Amino acid sequence: MTTATQVKCACESCHCMVTPGAGAIEKDGKYYCTEACAEGHPNGRGCGHPGCEC
Ligand SMILES: [Zn+2]
Ligand SMILES: [Zn+2]
Ligand SMILES: [Zn+2]
Repeated sequence: MTTATQVKCACESCHCMVTPGAGAIEKDGKYYCTEACAEGHPNGRGCGHPGCEC
């Protein structure tokens, strides 16, 4: 049985869980759910996931 190790998106206001190596965006050793989060929401766009306030 495979247990994927999930970590929370490194964006503070984001509540998404991401799986390193399986779709997560890695930047500076941290993992983000989307490029928008990884780049600090330069355009004010959120990650687009329901329930996230980033
Ligand atoms: Zn999110
Ligand atoms: Zn995120
Ligand atoms: Zn975010």
